[in-house]
Amino acid sequence: MKARTLKKNKVNVVTLGCSKNIFDSEVMMAQLKANNFDVEHESTSDDSEIVIINTCGFIDNAKEESINTIVQYAEAKAAGLVHKVYVTGCLSERYKDDLEKEIPEVDAYFGTRDLPRLLKTLKADYKHELVGERLLTTPNHFAYFKIAEGCDRPCSFCAIPLMRGKHVSTPIEDLVTQAKSLAAKGVKELMLIAQDLTYYGLDIYKKRALADLLEQLSDVEGIEWIRLHYAFPAGFPMDVLEVMNRKPNICNYLDMPLQHGSTSMLKAMRRGITREKTEELVNEIRAKVPGIAVRTTLIAGYPGETEEDFQEMYEFVEKMRFERLGIFTYSHEENTHAYNFEDDVPEKVKKQRADKIMALQSDISYSLNQEKVGKTFKVLFDRAEGDYFIGRTEFDSPEVDNEVLVKKENTYVRIGDYANVQITSADHFDLYGEVAE
Ligand code: SF4
Repeated sequence: MKARTLKKNKVNVVTLGCSKNIFDSEVMMAQLKANNFDVEHESTSDDSEIVIINTCGFIDNAKEESINTIVQYAEAKAAGLVHKVYVTGCLSERYKDDLEKEIPEVDAYFGTRDLPRLLKTLKADYKHELVGERLLTTPNHFAYFKIAEGCDRPCSFCAIPLMRGKHVSTPIEDLVTQAKSLAAKGVKELMLIAQDLTYYGLDIYKKRALADLLEQLSDVEGIEWIRLHYAFPAGFPMDVLEVMNRKPNICNYLDMPLQHGSTSMLKAMRRGITREKTEELVNEIRAKVPGIAVRTTLIAGYPGETEEDFQEMYEFVEKMRFERLGIFTYSHEENTHAYNFEDDVPEKVKKQRADKIMALQSDISYSLNQEKVGKTFKVLFDRAEGDYFIGRTEFDSPEVDNEVLVKKENTYVRIGDYANVQITSADHFDLYGEVAE
């Protein structure tokens, strides 16, 4: 790598992991900008004097990616291609001591709640008046919207509470202020995120207050879509569905990780719910909000998972026909409750099971998509790519769900705008259509 002139006070922020990390990076970037740093997100110009890597420490693959990224920039520093390298986020929170020993080229490691200290290290001030302000890294028309940090749940496989701490809700009035500021910048869609969205308010209001929050957010002018991610099944606040039905700008969409379809596995995972109760809940949600798209996430290969347990999960997916589904293979995480058990399902078998579920889901998604052919949907356009304008319906979240493709030759749509699209054909995970006159 050839040495080059590095711009003083220019910071390149690199974000790994989930939407909560994206949110944190955006908050950090706003603080840096307010301190007169020239800040870019995942800059390709490679002329930044300083690099800050916001890491993920969730499961094996994510940890590996974070370590490789740190090593990449440590080598760049050794080659004089960057002056300072700082690391923050979940991997750093969880493995700070090891990382300091193994990759000492990094100038400093910070935890997930260390922004003021990180800024101080850069001789910058933490500006309290900026709380909630962000430099968006997503297209300007949508934004991830973190309503709480941390988690109080005891899920046996999960290391997130070790990295993010206890559940802390952000007060409703602060969130409404943030939403107004985002709407003023042209944001139309808010993806509500947290570790456990449905726990919102139990700490500060002593009651589940997600419905109250939705009531107020949906009154913010300019916000046309509000989407719910990371709901927890046990104790699900049904009053949320009433608001969802009454407020047209709350998407008929619910992301609710369920993790497994066998009661014995759900028990071992300490999820606080059975297969039967899970089915009842999903059926009740579908009855209360007809046409809602339910997204879920599962885990294959948890310690002790038998072929019978897996079959139960397979039948569960076959029966429930989730509109959207993703699956992870179990990752044996230190200091989690599950780490006490033997990771006895071979990696090959974990992968085979996950692949079988995704093959089944691909067929389910294909047949559900055929039902959309001929119908017209409101679509938010995210980008233009090749011959197509590409967008999403209210049933699709960015990056993870289906997309709607409209041929450029037939029409013109502005990115960030809505248009009604009549679906003309569909495949497993994409819909094709024409803008309806
Ligand atoms: S609710 Fe989610 S973040 Fe919290 S412990 Fe369970 S899996 Fe982890």
